[in-house]
Amino acid sequence: MYDVIVVGGGVIGGTILRALSKYNYSICLLEKENDVCMGQSKANSGIVHAGFDAHVGTLKAKFNVLGCQMMPDYAKELGVKYLNCGSLVVAFNESDVAMLNNLLERGEKNGVKELEIIDSAKLHELEPNVSPNAIAALYAPTAGIICPYCLTIAAIGNAMDNGADLITNFELTKVEKMDRGFKLYSKDNKTVEGKVVINCAGIGSTKVANAFGDYSFEIKGKRGEYILLDRESGDFVSHTLFFTPTEKGKGILVSGTADHNIILGPTSEKVEDITPITTQKGLAEVMAKAKIMCPNTPIYNSITSFTGVRAYTEKGDFIIEESKAVDNLINCVGIESPGLTSAPAIAEYVCEMINNKLHGEKKADFNGTRTPEYFFKDLSVAEKNEIIKKDPSFGRIICRCEQITEGEIIKAIRENPPARDIDAIKRRTRSGMGRCQGGFCQPQVAEILARELGVELTEITKNGVGSELVIAKTK
Ligand SMILES: Cc1cc2nc3c(=O)[nH]c(=O)nc-3n(C[C@H](O)[C@H](O)[C@H](O)COP(=O)(O)OP(=O)(O)OC[C@H]3O[C@@H](n4cnc5c(N)ncnc54)[C@H](O)[C@@H]3O)c2cc1C
Repeated sequence: MYDVIVVGGGVIGGTILRALSKYNYSICLLEKENDVCMGQSKANSGIVHAGFDAHVGTLKAKFNVLGCQMMPDYAKELGVKYLNCGSLVVAFNESDVAMLNNLLERGEKNGVKELEIIDSAKLHELEPNVSPNAIAALYAPTAGIICPYCLTIAAIGNAMDNGADLITNFELTKVEKMDRGFKLYSKDNKTVEGKVVINCAGIGSTKVANAFGDYSFEIKGKRGEYILLDRESGDFVSHTLFFTPTEKGKGILVSGTADHNIILGPTSEKVEDITPITTQKGLAEVMAKAKIMCPNTPIYNSITSFTGVRAYTEKGDFIIEESKAVDNLINCVGIESPGLTSAPAIAEYVCEMINNKLHGEKKADFNGTRTPEYFFKDLSVAEKNEIIKKDPSFGRIICRCEQITEGEIIKAIRENPPARDIDAIKRRTRSGMGRCQGGFCQPQVAEILARELGVELTEITKNGVGSELVIAKTK
């Protein structure tokens, strides 16, 4: 029986798992998909928000500001790219300026440092591509950008390196109360037992809580659609640009990403059907808003579009507490934005809750560091040659757009959490994330996966059972 079972391998479950792995607990992460990070943690804006948007006194405000402060060191330790680019909320009229003043006041109450309202001249000096109609902005130098799935994968991988177990393809559907814990059942009747369970199942967390007999909250879905521009346009803006927020949220942004793309979006639409589809209407809205912010936005450089579905509750704040209905079930749910930013701080808080229950001791041999995820591309030619001499697979480029080598793909298959499908390789290495979106490298990645895993090519999937690429041999 595990001391703690975390249900849901997103950024919240992942960072909690890593925090717990510093202690002498036996811990396990359950994820319903073929890989970790398959929910909203893989499809969001990747902004490390400064913390002026969340209402004073909420959990969102508390964990956002703390998480933003923690993120630079947290990312560095895990070898994940983080860029402290700063953000600008842009005003186009006098009522927007009044909103900037509200946000400044709220931010200062939340504890955000260095906030400042700047005039049009300073705004256009910082961001020459912003519309000439913009008249002022709220400047937040502490904001940043990060790759959300890299952070999640690195946190889970580091926890596993420090002894945590991961079980994928385990969709929790049924729970049996035992004398000193719970027996958890998957959809296909696998079982695992634990003393304490932490529900981090994102959009699926209502069903998880219901399986325990907790009916205290209902998670709903809000779709957010995006367009991603090629790295060729990566210098188009250097800060994250927001409109002033509305009752629908922070609105459509124009921002760089940690990998030097430009991201436009997200829309905000409440939906019953949580399938992450893109729509003509949504993408048209993204393009129109981006053009209002920056009239010469290079939309022609679009390489893909995607959707993330926010898991929210009508309460409007995170729910992070032990269930009132079920002892030893901790709910970390309704974690919509700024959940990515807040994750390291939420993880510390939840770990403290577990320590108060189980009184674990810190491990002397915990190692919190991890090799940077895209280490090879950034090396000098001499350094690359040294590695290629030892392992020639680093001399073979598989993804031409992103210059990803066979060595990096093999590394992604072998290290924690191991990649088992093509999209998992993509999230760990960026192979398939460039201009051709995998058109050239996908068949080769499939062959490397089959070879390394010792399985037939027909067993290799894009993202789990049902997404096989090759259905049979013809010759
Ligand atoms: C469009 C959009 C934009 C956003 N932008 C930002 C931003 O810029 N900055 C920011 O700070 N935050 C942002 N967020 C919020 C942030 O993405 C989330 O707060 C965060 O990812 C929540 O992580 P999570 O681990 O709670 O959920 P998820 O990432 O959804 O993870 C839940 C996991 O649980 C698994 N699961 C579900 N049911 C079960 C089950 N029964 N058994 C086992 N596993 C299960 C799922 O497969 C999934 O992997 C954004 C969110 C969206 C959708």
